[in-house]
Amino acid sequence: LERADRERVAIGHFNVSELSTLKAIAASARELEVPVMIGVSEGERGFVGVRAIAALVRSLREEAGQPIFLNADHTHSLEGVREAARAGFDEILFDASSKRLEENVRETCRAVAAIRSIDPSIVVEGEVGYIGSSSEILEKAPEAAREMTTPEEARQFVAATGVDVLAPAVGNMHGMLREMVEGATEKRLDLDRIASIKRATGLPLTLHGGSGTNLDDLRAAVRSGMTIVHINTELRLAWRRGVEAALQENASEIAPYKLLEPVVERISAVVRAHLRLFNVRG
Ligand SMILES: [Zn+2]
Repeated sequence: LERADRERVAIGHFNVSELSTLKAIAASARELEVPVMIGVSEGERGFVGVRAIAALVRSLREEAGQPIFLNADHTHSLEGVREAARAGFDEILFDASSKRLEENVRETCRAVAAIRSIDPSIVVEGEVGYIGSSSEILEKAPEAAREMTTPEEARQFVAATGVDVLAPAVGNMHGMLREMVEGATEKRLDLDRIASIKRATGLPLTLHGGSGTNLDDLRAAVRSGMTIVHINTELRLAWRRGVEAALQENASEIAPYKLLEPVVERISAVVRAHLRLFNVRG
């Protein structure tokens, strides 16, 4: 993270809830020789298993010598934080961003203390400003997603909680509107705000909800100090389209690994394109 921050590149963060997506992400990052982060939300880790995903990512790192890391994405409870810390996650995002700032600070302080007491080497991320909650195709933007984080809120939050990484609301949003999926609109980012929040905090920043963002904005956001960029909805979309195509094209095939091979390739194309964009230097 420090190196990415210094070099003004970003680490791609991609969510998984099954094996073909994990395989696609790990292989793409290996091929491009860049570090990568795997994210699992509470829902995703509930499906794959907290210890199971930690073991999978650890085995990829140890067997291939690959810089691949695991983040407990959007963890809302202290219980969830402790479970991820004990399972050996590299990063934990404690998310109380839907609450008022004072309450968010209070709860995040508790989470930071809980994580540090289990393993002080875990990177802790906090979030200020609400950007919606589900990586799905949405009919309309969540109401609160229009409230962006101010540099002063960011400064106060970081000073009060001691988090290592901050996720602000800067025009980003979880999920994609239907017209974004169709390519009719794109998310636009407030680049001046990103630069101001970077100056106010001096920390690595995370851009959540990166799917469907204007590519020039994404590039500029990385140059302005976004150190981690999350992509989930676009991978889910590639997964679904890939599965549908594979089932249609192979009507009598029942071996999952044969059906899923083209799905892995489809997801890989999305991952590679983003990793290339995030890792352009200068
Ligand atoms: Zn997120």
